[in-house]
Amino acid sequence: LQQKLIESEKLSAIGKLGAGLAHEIRNPLTSIIGLTQLLKENNHQNKYLEIITAELERMKNLVNQFVSLGKPTILDREHCNLNELVTDTVELMNSNARLHNVEIYVELTNSHTNAYIDKAKIKQVLINFIKNALEAISSGGNIHIQLKTDMKSKEIYIMIKDNGEGMTEEQVDSLGTPFFTTKESGLGMGLPICFDIIHSHNGRIKIDSEKGQGTKINLVLPLN
Ligand code: ADP
Ligand code: MG
Repeated sequence: LQQKLIESEKLSAIGKLGAGLAHEIRNPLTSIIGLTQLLKENNHQNKYLEIITAELERMKNLVNQFVSLGKPTILDREHCNLNELVTDTVELMNSNARLHNVEIYVELTNSHTNAYIDKAKIKQVLINFIKNALEAISSGGNIHIQLKTDMKSKEIYIMIKDNGEGMTEEQVDSLGTPFFTTKESGLGMGLPICFDIIHSHNGRIKIDSEKGQGTKINLVLPLN
């Protein structure tokens, strides 16, 4: 009986994902069909073709990410200094931040920050969180990133705090559910991927948020 329950829970989870995917794919399909109709009728063809390409890209990404959901995450680990990885990632995101009129402040730690991690994947996690923070700030906010190590538990804490729109309790509860998004052209795949990457590193993620105040992400990773 236990077994059956688990199986049917799995099936309904897959069903929910499928419904989410179908919903997400129906929107770009509807607009593509509409645009091809317009292409037949008038002469803004380049503009329509650009939108069609962008919508097709979006659908391709959705399907790729859906397929990768079921697969185990394979880590390609190397020794890495997290002070450096955070600094590099912030540098990468700074021009994007300037566009949003956002200042990113970083507080590194003098303590030991070496971890044995998949550098590219952890960088992807940091980029995802910083992107979400930027998108939560309409204009003229700031993002604080702080690193701390706990030598007792041999862990590193990476805190990413924004003063953006924040989330309701309900929204916070939905975080990590594939395809959960409140954005018009969001995929809702950023956080599920981040959770998966951090868990496969035996790390943890804690998210605190308050509507209208901002959001604080706490990433915890084991040090070597
Ligand atoms: P996407 O960014 O494509 O919407 P994510 O998985 O990255 O997908 O995020 C899911 C949802 O979580 C977002 O649509 C948003 O509602 C909420 N969210 C995530 N990060 C933040 C943040 N820093 N501030 C406010 N809301 C956030
Ligand atoms: Mg995102």
